Amino acid sequence: MTTKTVEKIISPKPAHFVGDGFRVHNFIPGIPGMDMKRMDPFIMLDYNSKFHFNGTDQPRGVGVHPHRGFETVTIAYKGKVQHHDSAGGGGIIGEGDVQWMTAAKGVLHKEYHEKKWAKTGGIFQMVQLWVNLPAVYKMSCPKYQSIPNTDMTKVDLGNNGFVEIIAGIHNDQKGPAFTFSPVHVMNAKLNKHGKAEFNFPADYNTAALVIEGSITVNGSEKAPVNHLVLFKNEGETFTIEAQEDSIILIISGMPLNEPIHAHGPFVMNSRDEIMQTFEDYNLGRFGYLPD
Ligand code: MN
Repeated sequence: MTTKTVEKIISPKPAHFVGDGFRVHNFIPGIPGMDMKRMDPFIMLDYNSKFHFNGTDQPRGVGVHPHRGFETVTIAYKGKVQHHDSAGGGGIIGEGDVQWMTAAKGVLHKEYHEKKWAKTGGIFQMVQLWVNLPAVYKMSCPKYQSIPNTDMTKVDLGNNGFVEIIAGIHNDQKGPAFTFSPVHVMNAKLNKHGKAEFNFPADYNTAALVIEGSITVNGSEKAPVNHLVLFKNEGETFTIEAQEDSIILIISGMPLNEPIHAHGPFVMNSRDEIMQTFEDYNLGRFGYLPD
């Protein structure tokens, strides 16, 4: 085993709004060098760093829109979000919960602040990750996995803190999410001076996002809050030490190494498939979802 070294530590770009409910820093594919191939199969990462929304009677969010060819994974750190899709999936997630929505051959959905939470408002903090689907699964049936925090596998690290597995494996323990390719998604929740070691194959695309606190990676590289640590594709193990109580989102996945043709909310393997997707969408083949 050799050390997985840090390629770079990326500071957040200025935030922009997605709809009126998500104020995000885009890390993938908006940062130079961080295109959809660099973190394959993670093709998009939007991070709503802590932001205060005032109370409102009209919940903020994103109205009805389609997706095809991949999965949207929403990880809630603060606030509550609600989702509905045309395949009948839906639910509310709050602090610590995750929704894992497989769009596959196509859904319409909407994503917005949960009504009661929206009424009072408060601090909102979330990550949305798009996980690409292997070509053979792109036209499979949509699926929805609600993963409440209580279902996540907690790996106890004693005084260091713990690791909460959403998908994949840490220390021989497995997380609850079903995935279509080898993908690891987990939160390290470390106490001040707590340490954790991670181990992923050298070729897996790997990154860590500092959600809370500040960390030192591999004993020397410092990453402050809201920064993304991108690892090189060499070596297997890395360590994280928390400088204060910290939460770190860790993602690592086997590259699919398939062609990517993306157009807005559609991610397919060829231009022809994108054209077909527009035709299917215009003909109403994504189902129906009222506003
Ligand atoms: Mn969406």
